[in-house]
Amino acid sequence: MSAETLDPFDWDAFRRQAHRMLDDMLDYTQHIRERPVWQPIPQAIRDTFREPLPLDPTDLAMVHDRFMRDILPYSAGNAHPGFMGWVNGGGTPVGMLAEMLAAGLNTNLGGRDQIPIEIERQLVRWVRDIFGFPEGASGLLVTGTSVANLIAILVARTARLGIGVRQTGLANVEEKLVGYTSSAAHLCIAKAIDMAGLGREALRVIGVDSAGQMDLAALRSAVERDRAEGLTPFFLAGTAGTVDIGAVDDLSALADIAQSEGLWFHVDGAYGALAILSPELAPRLAGIERADSIAFDFHKWGQVPYDAGFILVRDGAAHQSTFDFPAAYLRRETRGLAAGSPWPCDLGPDLSRGFRALKTWVTLQVYGVRRLGEMIAHTCAVAQYLKRCIEQEPQLELLAPVSLNIVCFRFRGDYADELNRRIAVALQESGIAAPSTTIVNDAIAIRAAIVNHRTGFMDIDALIAATLAFGQRVRQEMNKDVD
Ligand SMILES: *Cc1c(COP(=O)(O)O)cnc(C)c1O
Repeated sequence: MSAETLDPFDWDAFRRQAHRMLDDMLDYTQHIRERPVWQPIPQAIRDTFREPLPLDPTDLAMVHDRFMRDILPYSAGNAHPGFMGWVNGGGTPVGMLAEMLAAGLNTNLGGRDQIPIEIERQLVRWVRDIFGFPEGASGLLVTGTSVANLIAILVARTARLGIGVRQTGLANVEEKLVGYTSSAAHLCIAKAIDMAGLGREALRVIGVDSAGQMDLAALRSAVERDRAEGLTPFFLAGTAGTVDIGAVDDLSALADIAQSEGLWFHVDGAYGALAILSPELAPRLAGIERADSIAFDFHKWGQVPYDAGFILVRDGAAHQSTFDFPAAYLRRETRGLAAGSPWPCDLGPDLSRGFRALKTWVTLQVYGVRRLGEMIAHTCAVAQYLKRCIEQEPQLELLAPVSLNIVCFRFRGDYADELNRRIAVALQESGIAAPSTTIVNDAIAIRAAIVNHRTGFMDIDALIAATLAFGQRVRQEMNKDVD
């Protein structure tokens, strides 16, 4: 390294090292099928990360070797086609390269007059087109849907109470705001209600029907009850793609109720909203175009590398008036670097922001949204194949309807919950497939979410074969435990 700066002293040597690092990651992706999806972490490896603070330099080549040996093999594995747990995107080598370009540029997208912010504004216009939102709609890239949901709640709060609430706080407000979502909604909505200072009691959790959709009659009566008690209903969050079974709420009906009750209509479409890119799936999201705000992730079905969440708000002025904050050192000009107001920092909590827009823009450019829509439809076709395999196998049982790309099932047997919990762990530890578990109608289900564009029919065959093999083995072990 150079003595004066942190840049390399010998750029040629550094360049060779850089190419080795790039090649290693391309090899990793190209040959990912040859690896286990995930593997248990040896304690000895874990222990090597309990070392003292490095006071002196270490050669980058040695740090890279350590990454290859001790870090890369022990990540969660969501890039692997056998990864089916939770709802995780697989990423792409294209996205990886875009991340490198963004890191090399190291620009801060909080503000200032620069083309990287135009890239983010271009994305906002594209997202507006995707969801049929008007020109005045605004948007912002954030870490993920958890933050996007929080932003939506804050904008809805300010829109309802007026911007004065930003000065006085909720303690001085007479209205008691209440919001609504379903029992199948992601917990980050309750967390966001809490973080917004409303208190979790302000969220009404409405039951769902057998298809996992919010019960509309129960919603209407909850709103009526709250009004009768003098409370102020203000926010309704529908879900497009629930985490447990992939259900989509009846968004048109929710939009009608929100309209007649004067509620802010938000859609948590964390992974499901991008199904709109597939002409065959888009009708399932009918009504999403009427939302006041939509939260979703490019890092799930969009396959953009982590992290890339998005918030879209119909009323761009309401969005900005929730977050803008005049400060002398952030003064805007009409010319020079301080031009180009409003800045992204006027639309959310973050001032310093990375160039998430680049990997997202590059992904949309390089693949095109038609191809991305086809890929999303393909993951649903793979899920339907898994469903048929389960229905044809007497030892397996489907536990929930397969609405999009999530399949919940179990191996039949006594003590089914314990049996299936152990099968899921055995599958994960085998490195063959990595589903997760959830609870469907009070029963533990093995849950396979097909999000990764690399997951194909042969991965489903491997999952089924391994589930049957581990199911028999675990059942025998449990019988021995009982004896
Ligand atoms: C994943 C998910 C979230 C959380 O999104 P993050 O990007 O992890 O913050 C919220 N809601 C639903 C329906 C999800 O699937």
